[in-house]
Amino acid sequence: MSRSTNAILVPLLGAALALSGCSDDSRSFIGSENSEHSAAAPTTRDANKKVLDQRPFENRKDFENARRGLIAQAPDLVISQEGGGEVWNMPAYDFVDSEGKSAPESVNPSLWRQAALNNIHGLFEVTDGLYQIRGYDLSNMSIIEGDTGWILVDPLTSKETASEAFLFAREHLGEKPVKAIVFTHSHLDHFGGVQGVLQHLTDEERANLRIIAPEGFEDEATSENIIAGPAMTRRAMYMYGKQLGRDVRGHVGTGLGKAPAFGTFGFEAPTDLVRETGTEITVDGVPMEFQVVSGSEAPAEFTFYLPESNAFCGAELVSRNMHNLYTLRGAKVRDARIWSAYIDEARTRFAEADVYFASHHWPLWGQANIQDFLIKQRDTYKFIHDQSVRLMNQGATPREIAETLKLPEALNQDFHNQGYYGTVSHNAKAVYQNYMGWFTANPAQLNPLPESESARRYVEMMGGEEQVVEKARSEFESASDMDVTEGQKTYRWLAELLNQVVFANPDNKDAKALLANVYDQLGYQAESGPWRDFYLTGAYELRNGAPEVGIKPAMMKDILLHTPVSLFFDSMAVRLNAEDADGENVTIKITFTDLGESYLLTLQNSVLHNRVVSEDTPADATLAITRPLFVDVLIGEAGLKELLFSDDIRFEGSKLDLISFFGMLDKPQGRFNIVTP
Ligand SMILES: [Zn+2]
Repeated sequence: MSRSTNAILVPLLGAALALSGCSDDSRSFIGSENSEHSAAAPTTRDANKKVLDQRPFENRKDFENARRGLIAQAPDLVISQEGGGEVWNMPAYDFVDSEGKSAPESVNPSLWRQAALNNIHGLFEVTDGLYQIRGYDLSNMSIIEGDTGWILVDPLTSKETASEAFLFAREHLGEKPVKAIVFTHSHLDHFGGVQGVLQHLTDEERANLRIIAPEGFEDEATSENIIAGPAMTRRAMYMYGKQLGRDVRGHVGTGLGKAPAFGTFGFEAPTDLVRETGTEITVDGVPMEFQVVSGSEAPAEFTFYLPESNAFCGAELVSRNMHNLYTLRGAKVRDARIWSAYIDEARTRFAEADVYFASHHWPLWGQANIQDFLIKQRDTYKFIHDQSVRLMNQGATPREIAETLKLPEALNQDFHNQGYYGTVSHNAKAVYQNYMGWFTANPAQLNPLPESESARRYVEMMGGEEQVVEKARSEFESASDMDVTEGQKTYRWLAELLNQVVFANPDNKDAKALLANVYDQLGYQAESGPWRDFYLTGAYELRNGAPEVGIKPAMMKDILLHTPVSLFFDSMAVRLNAEDADGENVTIKITFTDLGESYLLTLQNSVLHNRVVSEDTPADATLAITRPLFVDVLIGEAGLKELLFSDDIRFEGSKLDLISFFGMLDKPQGRFNIVTP
């Protein structure tokens, strides 16, 4: 029966884990103490040096802003989980020098600078009555002072980090009741820690608490990416460098912040939904004006303005990096055209803003600075959109567009729109994908062989594995002394070439070792945190194999309790093993006794449907159960097999049908191979 429970569970976990990029192996949170990544080659050293000439590194304004208003800083910011395991460890990043000036040869200096800025943590005063806790999580928690209490904005990712951040703020700002919590958007790093705050509130505070969120928040927050969860979760391990050491040849930060906080995730339903732009709500004497930006960075999102302090909260519509139009862990692409238009709307609607603060990174002060920032953020997305489409309409392929497109000089002199998180390259491909999908119209791409099959044929025609690896090795050796451009192209080409050998024969140790060395160089040169982590994780897994452990379910319980029930069943349908189900016709009815809802699952034609039915609808087997108990079964805290013989559920019909039905569902492990076939 465990097969069935995991079949439902794993995809649900994906919603959060895809974001956090975590598995249950807390040991590896701060990564392995590895030095197995190879040294930076001379061409990599040169490439990284060259970056120093491309941007105004002498401009130290960001460092000034990131430290401005510091009230207090915890010296040893390590946050652990009940029962052990680190959720957060800032000292692990102490190897990044505080000024971000002395980038090692193995890190792109621009990414190093961003990593140093993201290392600055503590409690800060942003402006009168507005504070932020930064560096306690991937995201920020903002704190607004009301007439009688506090309004908290975005209570971080996990219960543990949010609790620590809240207590730290209260220690330094004073104990006042929490009047409201604002969730700016439906991504986990902006609401998942809410229970960490709620646990410290009195019953009276809880009773009067307002929770303000954009319309659609609850559905999106609990369901985003559930269907594709196992694949996203696995890919997120690459994107966030989960398995990498925190060191100069490993993970230095995500660009968006340090790393996802891997703890206990929770949920709390909103009391107030903001449905449209222009909505004004006064909370504890603080007027707030909202702008709905759903469909940009998140499917449910708003920004807001505090007219009394001329402060604009940009949520994650804007940030101090180029964001992702396409997220490398895998996600539906985002629409750059709409995104850019929302930024322009914010810029004109909140034109008086004298303070900008957001859900990631540090604030910005001064109307002119904010306008300039918003204009350049707006134009970065619009430039990528418009120029990608222009080239697409000329017949360029995604790879050609990504190679051609460079931000104009006017957009290239600021750090905040650089590719620390998204990149021009993969965002340009996202624009193509948004309009055209995966096919370039070249019939050679219409029906190519699967990777391993074409790899075998390529390698054979190139003279066999040994010859290819030998030639690749000599090319790799000469690359190390090539000029920067040739060196980069050679590494990219060698990655493609050696990947063919590895896919033709995954047991070829020489090919894997050489490919890992190539990935190291590509990782060291990357300006984007996720690019670096993808390359270095690829190298890590070529050397060590894919992870042995998948993911742990229990930390998602609170979110699962709020997930729409029909989504449980939709995610079951995508686990159905069509071969096992061939010729089977079964109906299973599941009645949630606490919700008063019944669902009929119908298996026919190797397809699983679910629909709401009346309780007396006949079925081959009927299971009556509460939603919390059902969730316990999903996360493995209760065994369905034992339950079938207990009083906690009612069961009618054929147990055999039920057991064989659940037996037809796949159990994704979330640890599939990526750099090997
Ligand atoms: Zn975020």
